[in-house]
Amino acid sequence: MQDPGLLIVVSGPSGAGKGTVCDALRQSFPQIEYSISMTTRAPRPGETDGVNYFFTDNPHFEELLAEDAFLEHAKVYDHYYGTPKKYVFDQLEKGHHVMLEIDIQGAMQVRQRYSQALLIYIVPPSMDVLANRLRSRHTDAEETICGRLAKASDELAWIEKYDYLIVNDDLQVAIDQAAAILTAEALKTSRN
Ligand code: 5GP
Repeated sequence: MQDPGLLIVVSGPSGAGKGTVCDALRQSFPQIEYSISMTTRAPRPGETDGVNYFFTDNPHFEELLAEDAFLEHAKVYDHYYGTPKKYVFDQLEKGHHVMLEIDIQGAMQVRQRYSQALLIYIVPPSMDVLANRLRSRHTDAEETICGRLAKASDELAWIEKYDYLIVNDDLQVAIDQAAAILTAEALKTSRN
């Protein structure tokens, strides 16, 4: 039987640069499959259904939840987000590596349901840097920024549950570290 692929989970507070690191990994590791999450939040300008997310409504999401269709799910900022289970397990069974970019609540559920998952947490070098990054984006109101900072601070209690912590001070260094982790871990699975 084919060895299963690696299930890679990347989390980090909004503003830590998680999305940018994951985009760079996509370029460097085209063999990794990226799970598309389902969400009940509205699409943002430029987002496409089936590309960025599968966008849906609360009744449909809750129906799928009752059918146990999600590997993990969470309510983040009042909206549901979940990882469709079938796609992930089909890919792993084929020996493909799969990456999930999900929040900490979801990452802890993945850890419980699939203990072999590789958990990577990306942090900013300090809360001050995080605050500056969120403010300089000019996309969120001050109230939203304060909520994101409070959430980031609460999450720090959980980061010891992750396998790797990457401090994103210099973006290129963070990308290189993430790439080195994936290369080493993928090599380990191929040796097992
Ligand atoms: P956004 O709405 O900005 O795209 O994402 C908000 C947060 O939800 C981010 O921290 C993102 O990583 C997280 N997220 C996206 N998809 C999922 C998912 O399927 N499950 C969980 N638990 N979190 C998700």
